[in-house]
Parts: sequence; C-alpha cells; structure tokens
Amino acid sequence: MSVLHGACASTLFTSTVTRQLSLFSGIKRQPCQQLRHRAISAKGGMAVATADDQRLKQGIAEFYDESSGVWENIWGEHMHHGFYDPDAVVQISDHRSAQIRMIEQALQFASVPEDSQKRPKSIVDVGCGIGGSSRYLSRKYGAECYGITLSPVQAKRANALAAAQGLANKVSFEVADALNQPFPDGKFDLVWSMESGEHMPDKLKFVSELARVAAPGGTIIIVTWCHRDLSPSEESLRPEEKKLLDKICDAFYLPAWCSTSDYIKLLESLSLEDIKAADWSDNVAPFWPAVIKSALTWDGLTSLLQSGWKTIRGALVMPLMIEGFQKGVIKFSIITCRKPE
Ligand code: SAH
Repeated sequence: MSVLHGACASTLFTSTVTRQLSLFSGIKRQPCQQLRHRAISAKGGMAVATADDQRLKQGIAEFYDESSGVWENIWGEHMHHGFYDPDAVVQISDHRSAQIRMIEQALQFASVPEDSQKRPKSIVDVGCGIGGSSRYLSRKYGAECYGITLSPVQAKRANALAAAQGLANKVSFEVADALNQPFPDGKFDLVWSMESGEHMPDKLKFVSELARVAAPGGTIIIVTWCHRDLSPSEESLRPEEKKLLDKICDAFYLPAWCSTSDYIKLLESLSLEDIKAADWSDNVAPFWPAVIKSALTWDGLTSLLQSGWKTIRGALVMPLMIEGFQKGVIKFSIITCRKPE
C-alpha cells in the first residue's frame, strides 16, 4: 500500500506546524499521542529528556557492542529485515539475498538515479551497523560513503570489513550521533537510514539532521519501524497495543514509536519534496520467524549464551515483533523524499 505525499496530511495538521514540531522534539518512551500532551507543558521536562536521552544512547551503544558479533556470525553484515514476496515459501538460504533485495527495493522506491552522471557520489549511512549498506552502496555507485553509529565495536568492525573488502579509500565509519551529525550542511546526494529511526528519541531533530546534511536535490531514504496510523477518531493506541510496544522498547532500546503519518507530517513541515511512503509489513513477514529459527540452532544458542544479558533479552522479545506485525500495530515503513534544489 503506497501512501503518497499529502494523502493523509489533511487530518494531521489540526494545529499549527510550530506547535506540532515542538511536540515531536520530546518523543520519549510514551506512545506518540501521549507525548503530545506531555510536551506541551514540559519546560522543565527537557532536562529530564536529556538525561533520558543519554541513558538511551548508552543503552543502544552497549546493546550493539554486545550483540553485533553474534548477529554477524549467524546473519552476516546486514542488520536489517529482508524483503520477500508476500506469502513466498522461503528457505534459510534466501535470507541474505532478501536483505540485499531490501536495499535495492528502497533505492528503486526512491527513484535513485543509476546513470553515471546523476547517481549518488556522496552518501551518508545514518545508524550504519557494521556497514553492510555503506559498502554495498559504495560499490554499486562508486560513491564515497560515511557511516555513523553509536557503537564503537560496530564502527571498528565496519572499518575492518571495509579494509578487507578493498574499500578503505571509499568508505569510513565513526561513532557519532545521528541527532548531531559531524558533517557540513548539504554534503550528501543520498542520505540513508536503514532501520535506525526507531532508536531516535527526537524524531524532529532526526529528520532535520537528515535534511540538513542532504545536498540540494539529494534523496533521503528512511526505512523504519512505525506503529500503525491512528484513525481520525483515535487519540492514541489502545492500552494493550502500548503495552506490547513498551515491552519491545525495553529490550531493543527504543524510545516512543511514531506512525508513518507522523513522519510524513514532519517531512512536510521541513518543506521536503516528493514525499512518498509505503507499508512493507507484508514483505518482511518471513524475517522474524527465520531469525528465531536461527537463534534456536546449536550455533545460535551457544553464541547467544556467550554474548550477554542485553542480547539474550533482545532475543526473548523477538516473538513480540511477530505478534505486533500480526496484530497490525507494528508497521515496517519506507518513507522517502527529496531536498529542494
Ligand atoms: N543500518 C544498519 C544497522 C541497523 S541497527 C543495517 O541495516 O545493517 C541500528 C543502528 O542504528 C545501530 O548501528 C545503532 O548504533 C544505530 N543508532 C541508533 N541510534 C543512533 C544514533 N542516535 N546515532 C547514530 N546511530 C544510531
């Protein structure tokens, strides 16, 4: 299902853009609708938010420091969902190619040009993991690519893999915050965020930074976990839905979730162009069952047990991701746009 720019915007802009934006900068553990109420009043709340943000960042860094090796051993260099035909019968050997297909589908959805004149020459990979996307994109386009992650272990491993694959002069990785990126304005033709947006406690700051570092005419691609869009009569998710998401937040170091429509609204407020979104939940359905299956093999179990509590806790909530997708509360979304020339 493709949600084109503006399709659901009219019901969303019920108050002024400024007011809406200030609300998004306070996204924390509460579902989006709740945070709106909280953030209106919160002057002193920002100090609390900052301490919370620091704790969250540290948790994310430690989670990926601890778990990335286990993931790489079993699943390889891409730490994101695969893209499958809905209802396809999938073999274990299909998953790595499905992860590459996810990258290709995202590029195609955003109409990233392939010809040598127009293709991206400079790319940022925001929330880069161990750099699978960066290396793939750099090779595909012959582009230079900069990846950032909160995890020192990931940055080190990503650089080592780049060197081993002969890409050290094209691709580099460092520890840096997506909400305060160490890059000048307008540097990148392609701004890529593959499954990192769900970790960002301040969605406005997140998309503002993506827009800031994009070159005029550059493409921004966000592939991320969202909660379902609310109906016009709903103020928030149902209590049992919030409870499910909260459990996932705790284990995966996520702040409050927001919806695809919330993202569209933010991109519109920043005057970005060609905003498009789609729900790919059906295309990722085989992924979590496969991850659980791989965790239950001898190799999976022994590496999990050797990893640490954060990784084990992450593994234990994986069935809740399946439940969330099946109940329609979790959505796997792609949202793309272009920075005006
Ligand atoms: N995009 C990668 C990894 C996805 S895992 C891939 O597809 O393989 C999520 C990544 O987001 C991790 O690398 C984590 O460190 C990063 N991340 C989360 N919050 C971040 C932040 N505030 N700044 C930079 N990176 C962040």
